[in-house]
Amino acid sequence: MADTSVSYTCPNCGAPLSYLPGKDHVTCEYCGTEFATETIEKLFNQAQERAAAAEQEQEEKWATAAAGEGWSEEELAGLQVFHCSSCGAELVTDANTMATECCYCGNPTMLPARFDGALKPDEIIPFQKTKKDAVAALKQFYEGKTLLPAAFKKGNRVEAVQQMYVPYWLFDAKIKAEATFRAEEVKEYDEDDQTVTESYVYECYRAGKMSFERIPVDGSVKMDDTFMESIEPFDYTQLEPFTPAYLTGALADRYDVDAEAAVPRADERIAGSAVQLLQDTVEGYDEVKLQGEPTVRKKSGDVTYAMAPVWILTTRYENTPYMFLMNGQTGRLAGSLPYDNTKSYLFFAGTSIVSLPIWYYVLYFLCEMEDLISGHGFSMVVFVCALLCAVCCGYGVRSYLINQMSNVHPAADATEYLKQGSFKLTAEDDTYLYTSTKRYPKGKPKRDD
Ligand SMILES: [Zn+2]
Ligand SMILES: [Zn+2]
Repeated sequence: MADTSVSYTCPNCGAPLSYLPGKDHVTCEYCGTEFATETIEKLFNQAQERAAAAEQEQEEKWATAAAGEGWSEEELAGLQVFHCSSCGAELVTDANTMATECCYCGNPTMLPARFDGALKPDEIIPFQKTKKDAVAALKQFYEGKTLLPAAFKKGNRVEAVQQMYVPYWLFDAKIKAEATFRAEEVKEYDEDDQTVTESYVYECYRAGKMSFERIPVDGSVKMDDTFMESIEPFDYTQLEPFTPAYLTGALADRYDVDAEAAVPRADERIAGSAVQLLQDTVEGYDEVKLQGEPTVRKKSGDVTYAMAPVWILTTRYENTPYMFLMNGQTGRLAGSLPYDNTKSYLFFAGTSIVSLPIWYYVLYFLCEMEDLISGHGFSMVVFVCALLCAVCCGYGVRSYLINQMSNVHPAADATEYLKQGSFKLTAEDDTYLYTSTKRYPKGKPKRDD
């Protein structure tokens, strides 16, 4: 049975194609590209087959309900929760540990209450790094930061160093993914006084399966996701079954993003990795681009509730709090430092001024070699070009120095959590679409000497 959702469309621009049976070529009325009828028929049949196969495919849901366990009466009695009256954080600890101040906002008024449940974590990664390690890591983070304000470094006191277990949902999944890419092979050659560029355009379909293990998504609203993703990865070989004994003398945030709400972030990271893995198999072309929406389906999806160790360091500069996180297992530190804007512009100006004469002489020399010198205002033109290059240089140096001040970046994919050897390509098909040819005159002909 024919699927009505698929019809003849132009593989180049997506416009409907008026298809004439019996002809061996068809031309798109919108973009003017010409295709072999055979190619269009092949693509059409494949699209139909894939749409039919997709209808058969079932997608599994994440088993979010299975994450976490219930607490026993005894365990519940041995725990208490502290509420922060200022920011509303709720931190869990054992019955004998006092929370003296809030990990998030530093508020010293923490109100104890009976712990009333929520889920019990399945697993925990114990702390490997000490408070001393955390302070040393922050000191080291300041090193080599050219734009760090002198006053920040000199007057800097770490206001608080807190140890906390952060709730995480760990996602395991088996995935089936498919995507279509547009690939180009480019050939350039000279013909008489013209340069000819021929682009051979292909449509490349890829399908594959893969497994991911324990993609972490932070389960705390108060904990910035980007920060948490910046101190990844955790070494999961040290995961232990959770017992309340780990909370003796330590605070744990309790999740307020439930497993279901964490799903979109896990899906997003999986999709990013799946497309990248498929794209990496489109080889032998000069340019490859994703085309349309990829399909990513879960064949199984398990979720575990785990606690991960984090050191939180806070410091204050010009009345603004600065927070740094350190992975309590690996020691990786993430944070953003303030920077001296005046200093950054001095570097911008300095680099531009110093590099200007260098650019000028290099460009002048190059033009002379290529025999491009002509006319009166020539040195003026070279000067303007050199000035532009110098300003770009200064801008680049300033951006580089500013970038150095922060290492907080969101994780775009889940490639680190791909199960080794699990990626298998299940289908690949490259279809030649058309060739586009561009001609332009060669650079100014040389003067005869
Ligand atoms: Zn078209
Ligand atoms: Zn607070």
